[in-house]
Parts: sequence; C-alpha cells; structure tokens
Amino acid sequence: MNKPADRSLTLIGAGLAGALLATLLARKGWQVDVFEKRGDPRQQGYAGGRSINLALAERGRHALRQADADEAVMRQAVMMRGRMVHSREGQVQLQRYGRDDSEVIWSIHRGDLNITLLDLAEQAGARLHFHRRLDQVDFERRLAHFTDEQNGGAHLVEFQSLVGADGAGSSLRAAMLRERDLGERTEFLDHSYKELEIPPDAEGEFQIEPNALHIWPRGHYMCIALPNDEKTFTVTLFLPNAGEPSFASVTTPAQARALFERDFADAIPLIPALEQDWQRNPVGLLATLYLDSWHIDERAVLLGDAAHAMVPFHGQGMNCAFEDCVALAEHLQRTPDRAAAFAAFERERQPNAAAIQAMALENYVEMRDKVDDADFLLQRALERTLQERHPGRFVPHYTMVSFMRIPYAQALERSEIQRELLVQATRGHDSLEQIDWAALDAQILQRLSVLDDVPGQGGPR
Ligand SMILES: Cc1cc2nc3c(=O)[nH]c(=O)nc-3n(C[C@H](O)[C@H](O)[C@H](O)COP(=O)(O)OP(=O)(O)OC[C@H]3O[C@@H](n4cnc5c(N)ncnc54)[C@H](O)[C@@H]3O)c2cc1C
Repeated sequence: MNKPADRSLTLIGAGLAGALLATLLARKGWQVDVFEKRGDPRQQGYAGGRSINLALAERGRHALRQADADEAVMRQAVMMRGRMVHSREGQVQLQRYGRDDSEVIWSIHRGDLNITLLDLAEQAGARLHFHRRLDQVDFERRLAHFTDEQNGGAHLVEFQSLVGADGAGSSLRAAMLRERDLGERTEFLDHSYKELEIPPDAEGEFQIEPNALHIWPRGHYMCIALPNDEKTFTVTLFLPNAGEPSFASVTTPAQARALFERDFADAIPLIPALEQDWQRNPVGLLATLYLDSWHIDERAVLLGDAAHAMVPFHGQGMNCAFEDCVALAEHLQRTPDRAAAFAAFERERQPNAAAIQAMALENYVEMRDKVDDADFLLQRALERTLQERHPGRFVPHYTMVSFMRIPYAQALERSEIQRELLVQATRGHDSLEQIDWAALDAQILQRLSVLDDVPGQGGPR
C-alpha cells in the first residue's frame, strides 16, 4: 500500500462526472486515482447506465471545453432544435427551444460519452481502476475498502481525500452517513420510466424528424424520444406508479401494446419490437436527493448525482454534474486548504443544485400536460415577443437554463417573476393583441435587471 502524495485525490466512480473531473484535475497536475465498480467499457462494451442517451446543453458543453472534450463529443451528437409535439390525433408541431440553430440542445449516447471521457482522463495521466466497488471507509485511518467485482477479492487503499462521483446510489455517501448526519432526504417521484427503441428504417435512415426531442404529452403521463447518431431513437415512457394507466396496471407486453394503441397510436409502427423491449427493459425509479452537507472536512466530498440526484425532466442532471466538476477543480486549485476548498465548493453549488432540482420537478408538469395547451402557447408567444422587446432583460426560462451559464438559482428567481408576469398579462386573453403593453413594460423594467451573459448579445457563453 503506497502513501498518497500531497496533491492526490481518490475518486469513486468513473461515470460521467468522475471521468470528467479526473481529466480536469490530472491536467492540472493532480495525482488522480479513479475506482469504478464496473469493467472498462472500452474493452467489454458499455454496461448500461441510467438512460441510453442524454440531452447536452451549454453548461455541459462549457465544462467539456475546459477538458478539450467538446469536439470529440460533438462528433457523435445529434442536434435537437425543439420539441416535436405529437397530438393524440397524430399531428406533429415543432416548438423551437431558441431563436435559431445557435440555441439548440444535443442528444448524446451515454456510453460513447463515457468512453470519450475515460480516454481523455487516461491521456491526462489519471489512473483508472476497474472492477473496484467501494464498500466501506475507515475515515479515522483514511482507508477505503474495495471489492473486486470479478473475483470478490478485497483491496485496501489509503487516501488523503475521497471524491464521490458514484451516482445516485453512492456508496461513499452511505459511508459518510455512517460517520455523521448529512441531513439526507430522498423524495421518490410517484412516476417511473421504461425505455423502448425506434430502429432505423429499411434504408438505414431515421424514421422520424431527427433534429428534435419528440414528445407525446398525455396529461398525467407522456412518451419522449431522443435521436441517436446510429439513426435510432430511444423512447422513454413515463407513467405513474399507481392508478390507470400506470406501471401497476400496465405490466404485460400485451397491456403495453393496448396502451400504445390507445394513446400513442402514431408511435406503434415506429417501435416494431415493442413487446420485446417492454419485457427486456426494467422500470427505472426517479427521485430527488437532498443533502444538507456534501463533505466531511478534508476527507470526503460528494458531487453530481451522489450529492443531488434529480428527476430528468429538464435534461440537466449531467449538465449540472459537469458544472460541479469545473467548480470543484477550480476550488481545489485556488484553495490549498482542502477542507476550505470543499466547503467553498459546497457553498457555491448547493443553492444551484437545489434550484435545478426544483425546476426539473416543475418541468415534468410542463412537458406532459402543458405543451399542447392554448394558454401555455400564448404565454410562450408573449415570452418570445418580450425577449425581442427587452433584450437581455426578459430572457426566456428555457434560454437561461439551457443556453446560458448564469447560476441556476438566479435562473429560478427570474423565471418565477417572469412566469407571474406572463400569467397576469395573458389572463382571460386569447391573442397578443389584447395585451396591455404599457403596464407590462413598466413591470419588466421595474422587476428585472439586465443580464450580462445573454446568447446572441456578444456576452460570454
Ligand atoms: C431516465 C434519465 C434520463 C436522463 N436524461 C438526462 C439528460 O437528458 N440530460 C442530463 O443532463 N442528465 C440526464 N439525466 C441525469 C444524468 O443521468 C445524471 O445526472 C448523470 O449520470 C450524473 O452523473 P454522475 O457521474 O454523477 O453519476 P453516474 O453517471 O450515475 O455515474 C456513477 C458511476 O459510479 C459508479 N459506481 C457506483 N457505485 C460505485 C461504487 N460503490 N464503487 C465504485 N464505483 C461506483 C457507477 O458504476 C457509475 O459508473 C437522466 C437521468 C435519467 C435517470
């Protein structure tokens, strides 16, 4: 057992955040060891994670740029310009996320992204140890206990500081909780998800519009589909856990087909292996994890899902985890006292994680229930008009979260004011011609300051 060096860190988890953080730190000269319970996905294929693909937005891209990873990742990304809303009657309508193709999000394959980041981490000098599951931590003696997932062998590793990037079910968090009360609270959503696949057509092409995030909103539940660069789509069905329909009432492949025939008829011809996918793919649970404290002095700190798992409805969990990586690497560089660096990291990121957790919960209702609603569409039209009328001051909610990097907490605060103004101004109206512009303009000038970092206005991206 070797003694850890002065600038050494022991990372738990080589998933999305672990691999990116390892790259950022190793490039700055840190000695980084990463322990991952799974095998190396570059040798034995990606073993599956929490979803097959993910939406990458500006926050995540900015973090990738810090590690010079953006170019490699973007080679495999598929642009999504907006939501393609599928009505029950089979009509489709694109609702753009931004003003043009400079304001879009990107669909990326989790396994490909992970592999790209692992390669970069290794090139930067990080040491990756696969098949090593963290089991226990002796904080007193600074010893981490790992089990070899292949042969059950035990391994002891001496550490200076542990960094938990081991996801929502974090073993490091569990070990820290045995040491002290971190104020942990998990709120399970009463809805879960299952993934299905739309394969390419007979010519090997996408079966439906590739450059969009498809949504079939159905009130209390919905389906979405994100494109993959191999011309498939990953469909995710979100249903309540109880009631009708739910994962309790729809259990067999035949019941799944009946649900699709009734509610998602235009998707049925696109999913030829519906029954097999239903049978094969598990139901995934969704939860929000809250912690009062993310670290124990200089000995351990958590980030990403291990610190603040969230529901996936804003497509920001990974983006937020990537922002955490940049912030933690910067604090560690800036502040030689580790405990102080971890405390400063927590102070900076905790309010922002809480804000995006709240916005992610709200966005579920918007996606499944509002995107085809007349009031919502009028509010969106007004939002776009106000964006032009008050550049930099009235910035749409989605723009602040997905195309900018202003702190999530600030985006939430401004979004709440803006939503109130939008609801008030459109109440009882069915067109923008009825808006009282003078009153609305006055409120905006009074309640919203001008933001610096606005896309398309020359501000930093
Ligand atoms: C259905 C769904 C859709 C999503 N869509 C999006 C999206 O569109 N956009 C977005 O930004 N986010 C999305 N997310 C969220 C995103 O998946 C997470 O926020 C992201 O994966 C967090 O990264 P992480 O590195 O913290 O954790 P993970 O990616 O979960 O990585 C944790 C790693 O730690 C390893 N590990 C676990 N336990 C141990 C142990 N004891 N010892 C060693 N290693 C261990 C795991 O094997 C894994 O490799 C989605 C999530 C879900 C569930």
